[in-house]
This record gives sequence, C-alpha cells and structure tokens, in this order.
Amino acid sequence: MRLENKVAMITGAGSGIGRETALLFAKEGAKVAITGRTVEKLEEVCRKIDENGGEAIFKSGDVSLREDADEIVKKTMNEFGRIDILVNNAGINKDALVTKMTKDQWNGVIEVDLTGAFNCIQAVVGVMINQESGVIINASSISGIYGNIGQVNYASAKAGLIGLTKTLAKELGKKGVRVNAVAPGFTITPMTSKVPEKILTMMKEKIPLHRLAEPIDIAYAYLYLASDEARYVNGAVLSVDGGLTI
Ligand code: NAP
Repeated sequence: MRLENKVAMITGAGSGIGRETALLFAKEGAKVAITGRTVEKLEEVCRKIDENGGEAIFKSGDVSLREDADEIVKKTMNEFGRIDILVNNAGINKDALVTKMTKDQWNGVIEVDLTGAFNCIQAVVGVMINQESGVIINASSISGIYGNIGQVNYASAKAGLIGLTKTLAKELGKKGVRVNAVAPGFTITPMTSKVPEKILTMMKEKIPLHRLAEPIDIAYAYLYLASDEARYVNGAVLSVDGGLTI
C-alpha cells in the first residue's frame, strides 16, 4: 500500500474529486480526515471507507474561515496524532463575464479557492514542521494556467494557488515539507454537472484522449504526489487534462 501509516487531511471531500481521493487514499492505507460544509456527504464517505475496512473521521467546516480550518486540524491531531498529507481540494466556481461579475462572486471564489487553501496550510504547517515531514497538494486548474472566459475570479484564484505552491515549496523544502499542485482539466463532477451536452461534446473532441476526466483520474495524481514515490517532486504543477493544453 502506497500510503501505509500516513494521515491525510482532505478538504472538499464530500463529492467529486475529493470524495474519490478520500476513498483511494484510505484504500492505500492512509488514515483519512475529511472536511466540507455538508455533514451528510461527509458521513457517507466515512461510512464507505469504514465498510471497506479503512479508517476515516470527518469535521464539517468552511475552509474560508480560519477557525474552521483550526478545528479540523485539532480533531485530526486528537484522533490520529499527526498529519502527513494535506490536500487542499475544496473549491467552488461562480462564473460570469467580467462586465457582469459581482463583488460577491469575485470575493466568494477567492475566499474559498485561494484563501481556503492558505487557511488550511497555516493551520497545519506547524504540525508538519515539527514532524520535519509533510506533503501539501493544492487543486489548481487549467483555467489558472491558461485562463478561461467567464472565470476571471476562478482563474485568478487557481493562478494564485500556483504562486502559493511555488513560494511554499521554496519556504518549506528545507523543513522537509513538499508542496505541489495539480491542474485538472475538465472533470465529470457536481461542479461541471450544469455544463450543456453540446459543450461537453465539443470539449471531448479537443482533448487528445477523447474523453473528459473522471474524478479517479485526478485522485491518482494526488496519490502520486502524496506518496514517497514523489519524494523529489517539489513546486511542480502537474497537468492532468488528457493533453487538452498541449
Ligand atoms: P465538487 O464536486 O463541487 O467538490 C467540491 C467540494 O468542495 C464539495 O464537496 C464541497 O462540499 C466542498 N466545498 C465547497 N466550498 C467549501 C468550503 N467553503 N469549505 C469546505 N468545503 C467546501 O467539485 P470537484 O470538481 O470535485 O472539484 C474539486 C477541486 O478540483 C476544486 O478545487 C475544483 O476547483 C478543482 N477542479 C475541478 C475541475 C473540474 O472540471 N471538475 C477542473 C479543474 C479543477 P460542500 O458544498 O458540502 O462544502
């Protein structure tokens, strides 16, 4: 098992990519602590992990609030005594063209997608520094690298995560903590469920692998970066997009 004896904290783990990551990490031997805002979704994921013989706990919370980030870290430390992996996966989008975007849409996405990751990192980094080891993985996006019409808030947050990743890779490398990002392409999850069929077909045609990503495709990339196999990978942004952006 690739994550045996590791403790992983995963945000936004009630659905989509985060849910699949929690299930995969547990299967690979990690003890998993998950968070998100909806208790029922988190309960379902913990139940499934339990049924599969894994170990998981949850604490609901909003990553845009520093005190909520502190609470999940506190619960994880109380239950498991260490944190080896933090996956900053929680994210939202509130799309609009720049001419129509409200301040609430702008602030809402920045606060969850960018500040949320910062909050969780600040809450957990002391633990990792004390352990002299740790891995932080941030969910960026192809939008953060290449931009996307209607997503000035989301693309800015996701580009911000790349700056955050590279800066912290430099700051924390000497403390034994690796920091990397994954930039998923178009993935079939609740986030993308409202995209019209016509657009999905058009996207598939543009992707060299001729299909959209499934959540597990991204979870495997998180798994690689979280595992010791990536022990010399630091400050990287791993595109997982079926070749869409080449
Ligand atoms: P998703 O199914 O909507 O999952 C996002 C999760 O984040 C949900 O479980 C949600 O649960 C949680 N969340 C939202 N706001 C939160 C908050 N303030 N505090 C804590 N948790 C919060 O979306 P997904 O597609 O799996 O996305 C996962 C990550 O991948 C996101 O960062 C997204 O931007 C990124 N990504 C996705 C795609 C794609 O095509 N799907 C592409 C590139 C990047 P609650 O609502 O219960 O809080």
